[in-house]
This record gives sequence, structure tokens and C-alpha cells, in this order.
Amino acid sequence: ALRIGVLALQGDVREHAAILTSLGAETVAVRRPEQMLGLDGLVLPGGESSVIDKLSRIFDLRRPILDAIADGMPMYGTCAGLILLADDIEGAIDGQLTFGGLDVTVARNAFGGQVESFETELAVAGIDGAVAATFIRAPLITRVGPRARAIASLPDGGVVAVEQGNLLGTSFHPEMNGETRLHERLLDLAHARRVARAA
Ligand code: GLN
Repeated sequence: ALRIGVLALQGDVREHAAILTSLGAETVAVRRPEQMLGLDGLVLPGGESSVIDKLSRIFDLRRPILDAIADGMPMYGTCAGLILLADDIEGAIDGQLTFGGLDVTVARNAFGGQVESFETELAVAGIDGAVAATFIRAPLITRVGPRARAIASLPDGGVVAVEQGNLLGTSFHPEMNGETRLHERLLDLAHARRVARAA
């Protein structure tokens, strides 16, 4: 089975682990640097990006995650996880860092407060049929640089999903609706990389 980590410092770790397990992956709740070894992929969950950033430094996970991104490990970030994979943030809390990797700028809390949370259905490039999407104090992708590609937008044109190489990021939480197809995409990337490395 593919071995997929879920960064488990804060946020909706269990929902992601449940989907990955249902898709046949072996999941690892990553809290220590050595747990990054031997992973085929990593999910960065939703939560609070400034807290996850801070804890990643306290728990010595920042360096291994940066190394894994540089090494091409497939990763999928939802909401706070997308923020952590973005090269630039608008509305960063003082001193907040990201891991980067996606050539995008994201605006934190772009839809207002918790009450602005909403559910909708979206078209996502490469996925047949509507994708159920829950937005919770979600970021908006306000700039898509030349190395990244927008794969989903809201009706008003706001970009809410991107991919770049082995990195995937969505403003929304598919895991809250039992929507599995973005995780399947991560597993496809992880499988392709494992095959390429074995060759
Ligand atoms: N607003 C949160 C942040 O900036 C993200 C919210 C979420 O992950 N649902 O990190």
C-alpha cells in the first residue's frame, strides 16, 4: 500500500486519515521528523495555518517538510494546508511562514469570518462531475503564477484550487463531504512517483 502521512500538529487530521484509509492507503499521523521518512505523500490538513507553522518549527518538522517538497514528494493541502504550500500570503499573522512550493498568492480568511462558511459544488479540471466543497474561513487564491495551474474557480471567477507538479491545493475541504477524488489524485501522484523511483 502507499504510505501517506497526514501532518498531525493541529486541524482536521482524522477526516483526512479516514478518506485515505478508505482508499486503501496506509496512513501515518506525522508529529515527529522521523515520521517523514519513507512516505509516498503527505496531506496538510485544514486548521489554523499560523498555528501549524509555529508547531512545525517547535516539533522540528519544518526542515523535513521543506526537503520533501524539494524532493518532489506529492502533497495535498486543504484550506490552512493550501496556505502552508503557497509561496506568498496576504493577511499573514506577524512572522507567519509558509513552506511554499505553489507559485501562488493566497489571501487568508478572504470570505469573512466563521459565519461566512458555506458549501457548494464545483467543477474541478480532470474530475468528472461536480465536486462537493466546504469552505470554512477559507483562503482565496489571488494570484496564480506561471508555474502553477488553476483547476477550480467559484462562479465569480475566484480561484479555489491549484496544482503544480506534485503539489495540489484547495481552498475548500472535500474531506468534510466524503468527497474522495482529490485524495485519489494525490494517491495517483504518489503511485506514479513510486513507480518512477523503482525504475
Ligand atoms: N483561516 C484558516 C487559516 O488562515 C484556515 C481555515 C481552515 O483551514 N478551514 O489558517
